[in-house]
Amino acid sequence: MRKASIVILGSLMVVAAIWYFTASQDKTADVSDEIILAEAEPKEIYGYNEEDFYIEQSVIGKNEFLGSILDRAGISYDVISTLAQNAKDAFDVRYLREGKPYAIIWSNETQQALEFIYQSNPFRYVSYQLQEPYKVEVKEHNIETCVETFSGTIESSLWNSMKDVGAIMELISKMEDALEWSIDFQHVLAGDEYKLVYERQYINGEAVGIGKLIGAYFKNYDTEFYSIYYENEKYQGFYDETGRPMKKAFLKYPVRFSRISSYYNPRRFHPILKRTRPHYGTDYAAPYGTPIRAVADGVLQKVGFTKGNGNYIKIKHDKVYQSQYLHMSRFAKGMKSGVHVKQGQTIGYVGATGLATGPHVCFRFWKNGKQVNHLKQNLPPPDPLPESQLEDYLKTRDIVKGELDQIPIFKLEASATVSDTSEVVDNLEAFLLE
Ligand SMILES: [Zn+2]
Repeated sequence: MRKASIVILGSLMVVAAIWYFTASQDKTADVSDEIILAEAEPKEIYGYNEEDFYIEQSVIGKNEFLGSILDRAGISYDVISTLAQNAKDAFDVRYLREGKPYAIIWSNETQQALEFIYQSNPFRYVSYQLQEPYKVEVKEHNIETCVETFSGTIESSLWNSMKDVGAIMELISKMEDALEWSIDFQHVLAGDEYKLVYERQYINGEAVGIGKLIGAYFKNYDTEFYSIYYENEKYQGFYDETGRPMKKAFLKYPVRFSRISSYYNPRRFHPILKRTRPHYGTDYAAPYGTPIRAVADGVLQKVGFTKGNGNYIKIKHDKVYQSQYLHMSRFAKGMKSGVHVKQGQTIGYVGATGLATGPHVCFRFWKNGKQVNHLKQNLPPPDPLPESQLEDYLKTRDIVKGELDQIPIFKLEASATVSDTSEVVDNLEAFLLE
C-alpha cells in the first residue's frame, strides 16, 4: 500500500509555486525545506539519534504486559509500580495492545535503559522515563508535510484503477470529497483520467497519512472537471474553475463505495414477491456496515421500522424535497425525529432488514410529495464566490490548475488490468469499519 506510484514534485519552480500557495493559507512552515528534510535527514527515532543510542524496537506480543517488558530491561518492580502510578493521568498501562510497536532506548555509554516508548497510533506515542523522575507523558511526532501528485486512468472501475497503482483509501476518499457532486463515481468510464495534488504527511521519513487535497482533475469521457481547494476566513471548500462551489445542495448518492444494483423503475419485477411491483427507489449495494449519508441538510421526519422497509429514515430537506433510506442494519447514534442532520453526515449503516435479498440501501427521493428518480433531477447550481473574494481565489486556481496540468497521466500496463473486486471490497470493509 505504501509504495504508491507517486511523482514527488521536483523542480524548484514547482516548489516555489506550491510554497506561495500554502503560504497564502497562513502556514508558517517552509514547504521547500520540508521536502528536502523528508528525503535527506539522518535517521532519528523518537528524538534519539541512532549513532548515540541503541534503539530496541519490537511489537507487543501476546499476553505481554508493561511489567514483563520492563522486567526484561532490568527495571525493578518498585520503578515499574511508580511508572504505572505516574501513567494514570497520561495513559492507562492496561491498554498495551498486541501488535503495537514499542521501543526501548538504551544509553550506549551506561548500558542503561533510559526510556520505554509505546506507539499507540502513528501520530502519538507514550513515553515512560525509566530514570528519575519517572515521568510518563503522551508525545506527538513532528509531522512533515510534502506536496505530492498522483494520476491514473480508469480501466474498469475507479477502485481497480487506484488499487492497481497502490493508492491509499484515504486519497481515494478525498478525491470523492472534491468531485462527488459533479461526478457519479459509480459510472466512470474506461479511459477516464484523473490527477491529484495533495499533501502527504511524513514522520521520520515514513508516510503516515494524507493531509489536505489541494486540487483534483477528472476527465469523464470528454468533459473535464477541476476542483480546487480554497479557504479564507469566510469560505472553505472545493471550487470549480469559475469560482462556484463544487458542493451542491444534494449528494449524488447516499453510500460511498457502492454500486447501483437496481434502478428506479415503475414496472419492475420484484425478486422476492415474484410479481410486477414498481420500484420507486435506487438500490445501492454495499458491504454490511458501510455508512449511509444524508444526501443534504435536513430534519429527520421518521426513524422507524416496517416489515417492507426494515429500519429506515426519512429526511425533510426543505419545502420541496425529502429523501428516504431503507433496510439499514442499524441507525447512527442520536437519530430520532426532529433531529437536524448535515449533508454527508452518517445516519445509519447498510444492512438487509425488511424485504431485501442482500445488503443494500433503497434510496428514495420525493419532490413535492411525489416519488421521483433522483438521478434525473436537475437541481439548481449554488452561487459563485462573491466578487470581492473571486480575485484571490483565481490566483490560487491558476497555481493549482497549472500544477494539475503538468502531471503526466499514469497509464497501467495492459497486463495489470484486474477485474476481481473482492479484495477491494475486503479492504474497503476494513477501512470503513475501523
Ligand atoms: Zn429498492
